Amino acid sequence: MKKITIKNNKINVPDNPVIPFIEGDGTGPDIWKAASFVIDSAVKKVSGGSKKIEWKEIYAGEKAYNKVGDWLPEDTLKAIKEYTVAIKGPLTTPVGGGIRSLNVTLRQKLDLYACVRPVKHYAGVPSPVKEPEKVDMIIFRENTEDVYAGIEWQEGSEEAKKIIEYLKSEFSVDIHKDSGIGIKPISEFCSKRLIRRAIRHALDNGRSSVTMVHKGNIQKYTEGAFRQWGYELAEEEFKDTVISEDDLWEKYNGKCPEGKVILKDRIADIMFQLALLRPDDFSVLATPNLNGDYISDAIAAQVGGIGMAPGANIGDFAALFEATHGTAPKYANKDKVNPGSLLLSGCMMLEYLGWNEISQAIKNALEKTISSGFVTYDLARLLKSATELKTSQFAEKVVENI
Ligand code: NAP
Repeated sequence: MKKITIKNNKINVPDNPVIPFIEGDGTGPDIWKAASFVIDSAVKKVSGGSKKIEWKEIYAGEKAYNKVGDWLPEDTLKAIKEYTVAIKGPLTTPVGGGIRSLNVTLRQKLDLYACVRPVKHYAGVPSPVKEPEKVDMIIFRENTEDVYAGIEWQEGSEEAKKIIEYLKSEFSVDIHKDSGIGIKPISEFCSKRLIRRAIRHALDNGRSSVTMVHKGNIQKYTEGAFRQWGYELAEEEFKDTVISEDDLWEKYNGKCPEGKVILKDRIADIMFQLALLRPDDFSVLATPNLNGDYISDAIAAQVGGIGMAPGANIGDFAALFEATHGTAPKYANKDKVNPGSLLLSGCMMLEYLGWNEISQAIKNALEKTISSGFVTYDLARLLKSATELKTSQFAEKVVENI
């Protein structure tokens, strides 16, 4: 058993790494059991037994609260920092008790600044659009600032009144006296580190473009600056590998040369149209926090929605892979829901470790299972003829197909 380490931006992965997992609340135990069974089977099958993940359970959410009276114990944060890669099921958001959301707290405490969501269609998954197979995007959403920084004051509060008065006296800015106030910070440092990660991903994975999605025409010094800093970064750090859309037409006749990536930008509202009308024009998206939140769900809806959408929160020193849906408490312990989101998050984790072949084997088996009509309830209700399987049966079928 050995630890995964990160040095000079390079990850070192032993053949039998220790990886902490948080099972999650509600449907978490059911989907974790299914997903880890498929992952373990695939690792064994594809590596011929030379690799094995040593899972280490860590606690958060209800299980942690019942065990030690703390929703997010310090030991859990320590373990993720120490082992650098972890995976989690969905967590209940505690009502009251000072924690806004466990997920947000985890991201902030571990500085997991990039929320990464690949959105791709798998054959056989029902979709509301005509050509879902054209969707293959990966969204890098900034995770730490923007209106999500939590700097807000309620209408009528002393703080809101003071700020309204200050803006009036110092800058002659008039704001309705009965306004709530929120602050939207967007920094050069956080924008550049996010866009840098998106560009590196595109270069490392042979993706043709990175599109910055912003509302810079209106919010010039926050979202407009995000776009500007992206182009600056390309000039400073990726001069030989990143080209602009102008270069693409002027120098390369509209065809991106191998080994290079086009950096472009689109205003957020038009991007929502284009993601529906011409999804195959887009590959990697880099977005500020709020735009990324909206667009991730909108694009995920094109390829089968919530049960199949994986995600990860990644920083320079730790990565946490997660199911993107919630705990769906009404289905808890019913062995019913789709484990696809957590399983595909596991595939992202395997790719992060450099175990791409194993990830691909799982994705192929998942696709084969679904396209042969073996699905969980959520997809079964959308398909004319399908065999509905329980969570555990679905996992067994995927393993058969590896
Ligand atoms: P939710 O748990 O995501 O469930 C909403 C609906 O989505 C479910 O009723 C179900 O739809 C569908 N669904 C969810 N997981 C599914 C799966 N694995 N397979 C198939 N369908 C699935 O959202 P919620 O009910 O609003 O939130 C419940 C709790 O989860 C709250 O405490 C919330 O704070 C928390 N939450 C946690 C996370 C996280 O940990 N990342 C994210 C979001 C919410 P049908 O009813 O149509 O079958």
